[in-house]
Amino acid sequence: MKKIGLIGGMSWESTQIYYKIINEKVRSILGGFHSSKCVMESVDFSEIQKLQSENNWVALDEKMIEAAINLKNAKAEVLLICANTMHLCSDAITKEVNLPLLHIAEVTGEKIREANLNKVLLLGTKFTMERDFFKNILTDNFGLEVLIPNEGDREIVHHIIYEELVQGKINAASRGQYVQIIYEAIKNGAEGVILGCTEIPLLIQPTDVPIPTFNTTQIHAEKAVEFAMSTSIAN
Ligand code: GLU
Repeated sequence: MKKIGLIGGMSWESTQIYYKIINEKVRSILGGFHSSKCVMESVDFSEIQKLQSENNWVALDEKMIEAAINLKNAKAEVLLICANTMHLCSDAITKEVNLPLLHIAEVTGEKIREANLNKVLLLGTKFTMERDFFKNILTDNFGLEVLIPNEGDREIVHHIIYEELVQGKINAASRGQYVQIIYEAIKNGAEGVILGCTEIPLLIQPTDVPIPTFNTTQIHAEKAVEFAMSTSIAN
């Protein structure tokens, strides 16, 4: 089993779920007392959020590179950024740190393709919905058509992530707003919805909407275990 390196804390509300899913998956595969070999670098999200709001991606790149180097020094063999938004730093990391990085958009794209869908709604922070780093992987590598909410709805989705979900606040009224936005996208042909922020699955369950949901936290964490076990299941 390879040692998984997690860049966590963005936010810890979802990082703890990564840890749980990874260990559950190892146990379901190996049974008995088995659990994952992993190491985590957990950042102070306040520093990250401040730099995001200032659009200081140079400093964010540096922070993510430093975290990845620490994980490599702790003998991690594969890297996971436990957030969608911070994949904006994935190129900077892979340039500086010689370890495989499991990209959250890649593994999500694979799942959507397996489900045979073509047109999906992407929900996440404004960075994830509006910038190209996530959408381009889905369109270029998987031939998917990606819808995003209109400007006002993007503001709502983003606001609920930062003001509620990363702070552990789960509100029924906010769930209603998300569901309404998903229904709007269904009218425009969305066949599935990407929960493209690792905290959104705290709010939206598959049973809340009539189309398939793609839980990026779960997809990413499970893929990490498959990767960790792919070459040396007995070690
Ligand atoms: N966890 C979030 C994501 O998946 C948002 C928090 C952040 O800005 O990193 O995008």
